[in-house]
Amino acid sequence: MQVLVINSGSSSIKYQLLEPDNGDVVASGVVQRIGEPVGDGSPTIEHKSDGKTFEHDGPIADHGEGLRLVFDLFAKSGHDLAAADLGAVGHRVVHGGEVFYEPTLITDDVVRAIADLSTLAPLHNPANVTGIESARALLPEVPQVAVFDTAFFHHLPDAAKTYAIDAETAAAHGIRKYGFHGTSHDYVSGRVAEVLGRDRSEINQIVLHLGNGASASAIRGGRAVDTTMGLTPLEGLVMGTRSGDLDPGIIFHLIRAAGMDVQQVDDLLNRRSGIKGLSGVNDFRELGRLIDSGDAAAKLAYEVYIHRLRRYIGAYLVELGRVDAITFTAGVGENDARVRADALAGLSRFGIDVDPDRNTAENRSARYISPEGAEVAVLVVPTNEELAIARASAALVG
Ligand code: ADP
Repeated sequence: MQVLVINSGSSSIKYQLLEPDNGDVVASGVVQRIGEPVGDGSPTIEHKSDGKTFEHDGPIADHGEGLRLVFDLFAKSGHDLAAADLGAVGHRVVHGGEVFYEPTLITDDVVRAIADLSTLAPLHNPANVTGIESARALLPEVPQVAVFDTAFFHHLPDAAKTYAIDAETAAAHGIRKYGFHGTSHDYVSGRVAEVLGRDRSEINQIVLHLGNGASASAIRGGRAVDTTMGLTPLEGLVMGTRSGDLDPGIIFHLIRAAGMDVQQVDDLLNRRSGIKGLSGVNDFRELGRLIDSGDAAAKLAYEVYIHRLRRYIGAYLVELGRVDAITFTAGVGENDARVRADALAGLSRFGIDVDPDRNTAENRSARYISPEGAEVAVLVVPTNEELAIARASAALVG
């Protein structure tokens, strides 16, 4: 059986056709700049299968047209979806609110409920709904499954998920810590247990998902007990373009003193802050080059990033009491040895060490970077949200 996994954003669709049993990717691709005028630049669809790349150039009006063109490219590349053994389409959905905390078979009611949750995720859920509707229209016979980014954190302890604000107001507006990147934290912590050769229920872990978006989680015996993202994916760690934690008073100050409105503050904190806001770039490869060239702003951005990360590592060490594994994943976590070394520097007295040779070794697979026999295993584990979504979808449709 094969599963088509779809991750649709406001102007993009990422997709993979894969076999959930062995993780083999049959084809994958990305549709970009949906609804935007297209000039010179990269193709709007890049489709990869069997080591070949197929491209589409030209404007794409909406998600429906984007998916139709993707289906044409599947057929052109010899993997016609109409003839494939397609067991399910799995959709990544960002916000499940209080309603959804398990992979869910998509019906009209489910689509409406995901759309209703758009107040909590105005950038993401509407895009997810558009992707779902387009896929259902093109593949009406294939079961479609929604897998929620918030699900893994649904059962956070009350003390961790409750904001200390007026309880009635919070209840009326669904205000709690929901957490995001849950599919990744769940998948990676499962892989950690496999690498350690231990049952997941026996081990305590900290998972550091450091990509463009970034979040950390504390996991006790396979269950998340805390995470850095909150009501929205803005809270917590410093990210590529997002501020992460700040004094909420800054928002009032910006409104009163700088005359900004809600949309401007939203834009500032989500798109013009974080590493980009401090240094001008949001990609860690560029940041590293700037630091090496002596750029003071880049150095400060990096130090702020590491400072925040270490603060949460410390918090989760205390929260868990005993930690068996600390794991780095996602674009920065998997690739940036400097970040990994600095995040855990000087923690030998807690049993936490990073071996410099292991840390800088060229290796793409799940691996230890702590020294042989270390008390706390420090690992790098590549995340694979598509595979996790495919497996969850396949399990649901049987
Ligand atoms: P997203 O949150 O968009 O899924 P990813 O997990 O793919 O993000 O991470 C993307 C980020 O990873 C890039 O913006 C870049 O900062 C970082 N990154 C990717 N490759 C490297 C590398 N070789 N070294 C350092 N950072 C990298």
